[in-house]
Amino acid sequence: AKKVARSNYQFYSVELDKDAEFKIEQESAIAKGIKNSEFIPYYQPVVNAQSFLLEKLEMLARWDHDGELAGPHQFIATAEEANLIGKVCEQLLQKAFRDFSSWLEKMPSLTLSVNISVLQLIEPEFIDIFLCSLKRFNVPPINVEIEITESSLVSNLDTMKQTLLDLKSHGIRVAIDDFGTGYSSLSYLKHLSFDTIKVDQKFVSDLTGNIDGGELAIVIVHMAQSLQVNCVAEGVETAEQARILADAGCHQLQGYYFSKPKSARAIDSIIEAGVSI
Ligand code: C2E
Ligand code: CA
Ligand code: CA
Ligand code: CA
Repeated sequence: AKKVARSNYQFYSVELDKDAEFKIEQESAIAKGIKNSEFIPYYQPVVNAQSFLLEKLEMLARWDHDGELAGPHQFIATAEEANLIGKVCEQLLQKAFRDFSSWLEKMPSLTLSVNISVLQLIEPEFIDIFLCSLKRFNVPPINVEIEITESSLVSNLDTMKQTLLDLKSHGIRVAIDDFGTGYSSLSYLKHLSFDTIKVDQKFVSDLTGNIDGGELAIVIVHMAQSLQVNCVAEGVETAEQARILADAGCHQLQGYYFSKPKSARAIDSIIEAGVSI
């Protein structure tokens, strides 16, 4: 038995070395990516649930690396661990605000939403830096929404309460992302200042066939109405889901049924051509 235990130990230690090595390589690739300006914003349209017209763009991070476009799951967590998330975020926001300010000239009521990790948000200088960049690109704070996941909000409740108030005092809107997956108690919600609830896509994908109103997506839409906040459903993939959500009173819809995330150039042509996607 002793022998087995030892060989297991060796097995794991080799694996750990490999993991550590991979991580170090990835961290230095991210650092290089920052220098080479490889982090680029993609944008996914959010439409009005009744008219299907474009109202908002959600910025989603991409990494143009090794000839491929990597998604956030391939680098955000590592960037956070390596303390590089601040620089990645700054690069993305600079590019996004520049793009967005030109789109605002054509569509002054358009909103840009950005995903900010709680690690970033609780940095004492974050809000000042964020406001400075908005100013630099002439983007009114009122046209910007910050998306915070429900789970991260709940696990930092006391700090976040104040942060949300600070954001509000500057006119920046706040959305609770992936709503329904973070196990927040409803009594917390009443004491937080936020503007939007985003129904997580896993509840949207449950919407097929006979709908009796007991579906969680519908329950969340109704809850948003009683809290008097804006409601967005994400991950809408079918006409049926769009119709059910609109009928339930959801305000905005987002998902592959309307559009996948697109490059700035693709959004340019949508906005040049008018507001339908
Ligand atoms: P999220 O904020 O919940 O974003 C929605 C994700 O669902 C996006 O994946 C989007 O491409 C995908 N999606 C949109 N519509 C549909 C649909 O109809 N069906 C399906 N199956 N998926 C859909 P993506 O771009 O891979 O982003 C993953 C997550 O990474 C985001 O989830 C967000 O939490 C995080 N993220 C993205 N950009 C940033 C960023 O700049 N900073 C930080 N901290 N996190 C980011
Ligand atoms: Ca989001
Ligand atoms: Ca989400
Ligand atoms: Ca999600």
